[in-house]
Amino acid sequence: MICEVEAPRCVFRDNLLEGASGGCTLAKNKKDTPLPVLPAGGEIIDTHCHLDMGAYREDLQEVLDRARGAGVGRLLTIGIDLESSREAVRLAGAHPGIYAAVGVHPHHVAETSDDDYRELRRLAAQPRVVAYGEVGMDAVRNYAPLAVQMEHFRRQVRMAKELSLPLIVHDRETHDAIMAVLEEEGPFSAGGVMHCFSGDRELAVRVVRMGFYVSIPGVVTFANAGMLREVVEAVPLERLLVETDGPFLAPEPKRGKRNEPAYVLYTAHKVAEIKGVELAEVARQTTANAEALFGMREG
Ligand SMILES: [Zn+2]
Ligand SMILES: [Zn+2]
Repeated sequence: MICEVEAPRCVFRDNLLEGASGGCTLAKNKKDTPLPVLPAGGEIIDTHCHLDMGAYREDLQEVLDRARGAGVGRLLTIGIDLESSREAVRLAGAHPGIYAAVGVHPHHVAETSDDDYRELRRLAAQPRVVAYGEVGMDAVRNYAPLAVQMEHFRRQVRMAKELSLPLIVHDRETHDAIMAVLEEEGPFSAGGVMHCFSGDRELAVRVVRMGFYVSIPGVVTFANAGMLREVVEAVPLERLLVETDGPFLAPEPKRGKRNEPAYVLYTAHKVAEIKGVELAEVARQTTANAEALFGMREG
């Protein structure tokens, strides 16, 4: 059943296939660079993935084992609608190291009812739910009119505040609208993150001033990601998170393939290179940042 809805759920399907003649074929031809290795005992958190998706149905335990083996012992799986939020909570209860966020992604707001929001509120109180999201707006796929997306975004921003949960924001080419809502509805004592950040350095500075974190996806490893690299340069390591957004947006050298939590190390490695620091330092600081925002301290 999940398979049938997989295509519309592919939030970044167009990005995944970006440069239709490029992405996938390039990945195939590329030498398989080994995963960067953390020093013994090192740890890093994947702060955004979608473990409930069909892409992991066959081998989720192996995906989690590979993550743990690479030092990604804790991760945050994100709900995009009521059903996936339920599944996120279930996964968090079933596996060590997994935490959950619940919420309705802008792609799915049109079919979300008042009853669904009541149920989400109940889910949000479950153990191991550490954030509300992902919520926001998306002008690229436009599954609902932007006015409808904004109404649901505002409603969920208010819910996150009432629940005292940090907010996970999805923003695709809706920077002004997103910032307007956040600035009107703030301040946010539980904080938040702009996930899969796609704005420029000016927007990043505004986001940080608001007290939010900026989360860097695997896109930062792509050859054409100059703007995102500038963002990494501009934002202090103390305000950065790293994420896979798996199964979407695999970093180089896995671009075009299924993404998974272990690959957050490719992203962290690129962040370290841009910042001119060791990978271990990026791992240590982004882990501390994720703990400061989400807790996630029980293993
Ligand atoms: Zn998103
Ligand atoms: Zn996502």
